Amino acid sequence: MEKDAKIYVAGHRGLVGSAIVRNLEAQGFRNLVFRTHAELDLTDYRKVGAFFQNESIDYVFLAAAKVGGIMANSSYPAEFIKENLMIETHVIDWSYKTGVKKLLFLGSTCIYPKFAEQPIKETELLNGQLEATNEAYAIAKITGIKMCQSYNAQYGTHYISVMPTNLYGPNDNYDYMTSHVLPALVRKFYEAKMNHDPYVVVWGTGRPKREFLHSDDLADACIYLMNHYDGNEIVNIGVGKELTIRELAEKVKEVIGYTGDIHFDSSKPDGTPRKIVDVTKLHALGWKANISLDQGLKRTYQDFLNTLSKVGN
Ligand code: GDP
Repeated sequence: MEKDAKIYVAGHRGLVGSAIVRNLEAQGFRNLVFRTHAELDLTDYRKVGAFFQNESIDYVFLAAAKVGGIMANSSYPAEFIKENLMIETHVIDWSYKTGVKKLLFLGSTCIYPKFAEQPIKETELLNGQLEATNEAYAIAKITGIKMCQSYNAQYGTHYISVMPTNLYGPNDNYDYMTSHVLPALVRKFYEAKMNHDPYVVVWGTGRPKREFLHSDDLADACIYLMNHYDGNEIVNIGVGKELTIRELAEKVKEVIGYTGDIHFDSSKPDGTPRKIVDVTKLHALGWKANISLDQGLKRTYQDFLNTLSKVGN
């Protein structure tokens, strides 16, 4: 990408989109374009068309999506499949119609089959049954990947798709009921420290293993691949390292400086025992994660404190 190229980041306020914007700005890209949800409804085909025709966009990072946790996904599957299909169709089709040079589509490792072999290789996609609770979301995201590949095949476009592992970073969701484990633990240990609670409750047995990628690393990988990868096949983005939920809880406890105990509530679900992606292809393409979990947790704690001070707590 040329430094003055016009780059549209769809979903610039989210965990992924905001990280891509920070990274592009830090690298000196000066011609970025964004629209908030209120300014441009990506489910409106005509408005998306007018936007693309007016702006003459060179590169697109498609990080806009309707996302949510297990409860949201299983309660509103119609909205998840409809909105995601519309966003993808409109952005990809207008990118093609207005001659966008290259587009990067954000998939997710949660759209791999439920019983995919670990570490998950890119070839596992569509190799088995999906997880029932997010099937509608997964089908929509898989369709986005297939759209990119189909446009490349029929129209000679350059649309690439990536599969990020579990993410964390600034603008994360800290809500107890809908957040993922890492932000949930940051909040739980912080509140326990402030309230001098004797222990913190961590869900499940603590034995499941997970991999965590900082959103700034993901953004760096996306921009790297935009510049250096032009293949039709999807690319996993992860760190290639995993740890147990117990080990994660110990690390969060230490970063926050909490001195009480950790209790595991095994009446809560563990979920899948292991979830890690194979990053052989990403490494072969020349990119590796930079932010260690220890560094990332420190940054996340700082971000969490900043979030609190902004809302005046
Ligand atoms: P998953 O990776 O899709 O299973 O999603 P999560 O990030 O929500 O959960 C990962 C693991 O962390 C599961 O084994 C949870 O039981 C465990 N966990 C422990 N404490 C918490 C918590 O406070 N919130 C969440 N979301 N998960 C927790």
